[in-house]
Amino acid sequence: MPVGAVQSVARLYGEWKDLTSKLNAQVHARSSIGDRIREGSGDAKTQAIEEAKVLKASISELQKRVTEIEDELHALALTIPNDTHHDTPIGPEDAAITLSTHGPEPCPPSPQRDHVNVAKSLNLLDLEAGSTITGSSWYYLLNEGALLELALTQYAMSKAIARGFKPITTPDVVRADIASRCGFQPRDSSDPPVHQMYHLQKAHPTQPELVLSGTAEIPLAGMFANKIFREEELPIKYVGLGRAFRSEAGARGADTRGLYRVHQFTKVELFAACAEGESDRMMQELFDLQLDIFGGLGLPIRALDMPTEELGASAFRKYDIEAWMPGRGRWGEISSTSNCTDYQSRRLHIRYRRRKSSESEAVPDGPLPFAHTLNGTAAAIPRLIVALLENGVKLSDTGEVVGLSLPVALKPFWISSGQGVDI
Ligand code: AMP
Repeated sequence: MPVGAVQSVARLYGEWKDLTSKLNAQVHARSSIGDRIREGSGDAKTQAIEEAKVLKASISELQKRVTEIEDELHALALTIPNDTHHDTPIGPEDAAITLSTHGPEPCPPSPQRDHVNVAKSLNLLDLEAGSTITGSSWYYLLNEGALLELALTQYAMSKAIARGFKPITTPDVVRADIASRCGFQPRDSSDPPVHQMYHLQKAHPTQPELVLSGTAEIPLAGMFANKIFREEELPIKYVGLGRAFRSEAGARGADTRGLYRVHQFTKVELFAACAEGESDRMMQELFDLQLDIFGGLGLPIRALDMPTEELGASAFRKYDIEAWMPGRGRWGEISSTSNCTDYQSRRLHIRYRRRKSSESEAVPDGPLPFAHTLNGTAAAIPRLIVALLENGVKLSDTGEVVGLSLPVALKPFWISSGQGVDI
């Protein structure tokens, strides 16, 4: 955020208020001059015509300035992130606080466990075809690799549904302005702009600017734009299935190896909207569900309270879950959950009418409160595949890949191909 953005927004807003009230007064004056011109005669009419000319020029000048300020205000306001929770650690990524660890003891780092090595040995992945057909960091999942994506998707959805989340599939193409209202700027302000999202070329001039969604959180939050809930209807809880597309502009290094950081992936996403005093509790509910999902896969995992510099624009608080990835020799993020409080709902106009505490109580006056929105990853498929292959590979004494052990929790969702890897 540029230094002083908040002060500049406050100053510009003050200027905008002064100018719009001046503008309204002049527009009002112009309509009464119109009456004098229509009804008057002689000198009085000539004078009214002169006054109207002066006013017209002044109104057009004011309108121009009001539009300029609105554009400036809009651009600046988009650079202001959400507030942060008072317990959030302050600083960069390494200031994260480990909240808990779960699952088996992490095994020692081992290059033989590298997921690309395992996937190639078991014929589960074709990176070369992805590279030829689309480009680097695009991939094909083969055989049980493809079946693993289906099983993980169903597993995560079934866990969420069992806890009252409604299943939904979402559009993967969204309007750029909806992405922006959710806190994702389709392009940043650098020159030339860096596109974090893939833009679609307009099929016809009247089509709105469209982007490929980076997460189902965007179509899920967008679905409730301009909605006014009754407090009794809250919380709403959804588990959405979508494809996430990321340009990953600027990302490089070891992270781009294999499936760890790719441009397209299937993601099962949790989304909730609740009353304003409820979002801390709702965040805990999402987090408990995530620990159940990833813990159920028997992975060594740890949960982190993410620091201020890792929160992005919309999060008030963020918990990440990392899995131990012995082939990579480090922990890797597999999920994230964010309490966005009213950041997205202010921009999308998602509000609610407070519940009356008794029949005789009057409906409370004043503006309607904004709902709080939250989102969390129930399954980001490629990272789960990385963790499952690197932890579950069976190696011979000489370090050859001889098989893969998959979690029994996937069994009810497993389509057996009758060959190779099985549960
Ligand atoms: P995010 O929506 O950025 O918080 O990401 C949610 C989850 O998606 C992360 O915790 C990762 O597990 C996964 N993820 C994010 N970006 C990528 C990527 N480029 N490739 C594969 N998985 C990703």
